[in-house]
Amino acid sequence: MSQKLKSVKGTRDLLPPETSVWEAVETNARRVFGSYGYREIRTPVMESTDLFVRGVGEASDIVGKEMYTFDDRKGRSLTLRPENTAAVARAFVQHGMREWPSPVKLFYIGPQFRYERPQRGRYRQFHQIGAELIGDEGPHSDVELLVMLVRFLRSLRFEDLVVRLNTVGDAESRRQYAAALREFLEPHRADLGDDSKRRLETNPLRILDTKNPAERALLESAPELESFLSEECRQHFSRVREGLERHAVEHQIEPRLVRGLDYYTRTVFEISSAALGAQDAILGGGRYDGLVSELGGAPEPGIGFAIGQDRLIDVLPDSFRSAVRPAAPVLVVPIGDETLVEALQLAEELRDGGLDVVTELRARAMKAALGRADRLGARWVVLVGTSELESGMITVKDFADNEQFETPRAELGEWLRSRS
Ligand code: AMP
Repeated sequence: MSQKLKSVKGTRDLLPPETSVWEAVETNARRVFGSYGYREIRTPVMESTDLFVRGVGEASDIVGKEMYTFDDRKGRSLTLRPENTAAVARAFVQHGMREWPSPVKLFYIGPQFRYERPQRGRYRQFHQIGAELIGDEGPHSDVELLVMLVRFLRSLRFEDLVVRLNTVGDAESRRQYAAALREFLEPHRADLGDDSKRRLETNPLRILDTKNPAERALLESAPELESFLSEECRQHFSRVREGLERHAVEHQIEPRLVRGLDYYTRTVFEISSAALGAQDAILGGGRYDGLVSELGGAPEPGIGFAIGQDRLIDVLPDSFRSAVRPAAPVLVVPIGDETLVEALQLAEELRDGGLDVVTELRARAMKAALGRADRLGARWVVLVGTSELESGMITVKDFADNEQFETPRAELGEWLRSRS
């Protein structure tokens, strides 16, 4: 016998009934984001490698060591997208979306790929639900985006949300701060881990979110980013905070929050759920006022977020999960071969009336049929035997109440609908 094939390490199959939960989450995202004027964009899964090198940044972990990059048959370097913001910004430039009514509001739902060490909540193919608002630099955009995000999470019945917020300043304040931080850390180079040594050259800000206790202690006395912020950045941040307070979005300021992607400017944020623990954010995002111009477009400010759908679903509140509708609630069972044709016909009539129906495609004995209904999670079993067909009265077994009813065939659809 040949060897059984398995899915690739770090990837997984999503199977029913779990896929119904994924769909329900996506339906909520579409509804909530749609109610703020966001529309869906679907970008290709592969892009030229250059997009992420320029967009996400050469010094980021993603570009440095996590990308699935390969040459195609003509030797072009392609990469499976590790995130979606750079692709949305590329599409914005490519399709001249500056001419669209501003700001442009887009959301996406789809798989992303990173070569990371697989562990609980971390995959090599994972899924993100994200939104981007491009073309407005004012603090009200930040506020509306965050309020929308919280509305979405509440629609999934999350209550224990922890919103962490920071500002990383504009390009100039970041540049000055990076120089000061480098100067402060340089004398302690020998005490830094390998990652931080490397970041000292490439991107010193990233050292701020280190998990290494010795480095954290050292950073206690490091210069604060806050003192390098321009007046505009400060004002922007306090307007964002005021807005959040007005909308009763509780948040905490996290001066060391910098996020792993190079394109962020000003507002950055993460949200975690108490269930997952503060270390593991279910989503992250922020402003990226320099990204569009980095990709060759005229400068356009933007802000967005990416929710890790896998993690979100891992910690989804039970109250949402249990409300997700199971498979078809009606099972039509032919009792005896001669009733098969009629059973199929009856099921079509019920579907015409808007019901979800599974039909047994082989005649069953009553006992086997009831066992199947239980396994399929059906609420009603509609029995179609010769006597039912002759009398025109259909027998329905209600699994929820463990009762049995008879109803005229013509009224069956209405009967079921009124009870569902
Ligand atoms: P990022 O694009 O790095 O800002 O990540 C945004 C969110 O995507 C994170 O908060 C995670 O929830 C999720 N995420 C990132 N990488 C992975 C991964 N390898 N597996 C699962 N989820 C991930």
